[in-house]
Amino acid sequence: MIYVSTRNNSKEYSFEEVFIKGLADDGGLYVPKSFKSYTHNELLELKYLNYNELSSEIVHQFSSDFISKDELSKLINKSYSTFREKEVVKISKLGEVNLLELFHGPTLAFKDVAMQFIGNLYQYYLSKNDKKINIVVATSGDTGAAAIDAIKGKTNLNIFVLHPNNKISSVQRKIMTTVEENNVFNIAIEGNFDDCQNIVKAMFSDLKFSKSINMSGVNSINWARIIAQTVYYFYSYFKLNKKTISFSVPTGNFGDVFAGYLAKKMGLPINKLIVATNENDILHRAISRGDYVSKEVKETSSPSMDIQLASNFERLIYYINKSDSKITKDIMKKVKQNSYQIEKNKLEIIQKDFISESCSEKETLDIIKNIYEKNNVILDPHTAIGVGAAHKLSFNDCVVLSTAHPCKFPDATINSINKYETLPEELSHVLNKQENFQVLENDVEEVKNFVKKNIKF
Ligand SMILES: *Cc1c(COP(=O)(O)O)cnc(C)c1O
Repeated sequence: MIYVSTRNNSKEYSFEEVFIKGLADDGGLYVPKSFKSYTHNELLELKYLNYNELSSEIVHQFSSDFISKDELSKLINKSYSTFREKEVVKISKLGEVNLLELFHGPTLAFKDVAMQFIGNLYQYYLSKNDKKINIVVATSGDTGAAAIDAIKGKTNLNIFVLHPNNKISSVQRKIMTTVEENNVFNIAIEGNFDDCQNIVKAMFSDLKFSKSINMSGVNSINWARIIAQTVYYFYSYFKLNKKTISFSVPTGNFGDVFAGYLAKKMGLPINKLIVATNENDILHRAISRGDYVSKEVKETSSPSMDIQLASNFERLIYYINKSDSKITKDIMKKVKQNSYQIEKNKLEIIQKDFISESCSEKETLDIIKNIYEKNNVILDPHTAIGVGAAHKLSFNDCVVLSTAHPCKFPDATINSINKYETLPEELSHVLNKQENFQVLENDVEEVKNFVKKNIKF
């Protein structure tokens, strides 16, 4: 498959480059030049595949020049053998709504679905290439844990994870910082998630630095993550046996919901994708009225969505502008100056596929309470926002992506219902274990120096 950058689509890239580099040198995001759209009959043929088979089928569409279908299948089986659910994900009922439980992987959030796969994809790549790679990634809490679990102990790979100091839940932090393998480095930045993400971007754009350390990125713009996430949209559609289906997606960086958009572009009969945000509602303002202007990040009880500028939104901008990379590049300049208003005709295109809603802090805690009283289920605050958005928009029988296990966010559930879920047995040890992380200023050079100093293989 041929890939291009959203900011210059005259240059072509392979899946390998796209996967290993994450972000294009011109600052744009990689997108496939074209891809398969399944017909109704072709979709019927996929209906009875199990999760791993379906995953191999879909991921293969995008990576056939990199890995054979057979090897891919093996890799996927290995990746998902670490999950507590045999079928990787689980669909459960919550009143009329369907919950798509994506948190049965090793670090209890949906990020594991893509990350376990990516960890093994790196290993596959390194088995063919005599290289050493340094992964640097910013996290709002869950990506880092999932990436660390996927990379820890793998040879010729180091991972450096930047999280915003004191701005993620302590359970989230402990899952990352109690890992003992010596190829894992946790850095707490004195700033917010956007600061962490900006540092990683600046490190990438310093080509001399990033090339010198073979820097690689696994944040949610990595195309390999997106395609692994596309799979569960297909899976839900087949399992629920409906004519059309809508999804409510708790959204931060627009990665997960973009995977749903990709599924729709691949022919899956999705009606609407609900973009559910917390009080950091830039995407809600953008999708409901074209206002893509960021404000100060607020800290909420759903920290994995405390994001203003959503990196993956650039891919949507590219597609609604008919794959015109010149226009996309100009728009991204406006985004950088924080002055992008989406034109009315473009907004109408977006609103064919997307609808949005946001939930305040109080609403989020009320939803957790209502659901607990009505259904005796404890939701994590991110999932609660997905449920709340679906309710507010009267999408009563949609599929809500349940993105995290409630035990990761005990403070939120205690605030709401004075109860918390305990960690699954295999993770309970993290609560009392010695933590290991370095606090650094919000400063690119400091982080670069730390990385250079600690590179070891
Ligand atoms: C990362 C995350 C999100 C947001 O996903 P995006 O792909 O960034 O939109 C939502 N919920 C949880 C629990 C997460 O970890």
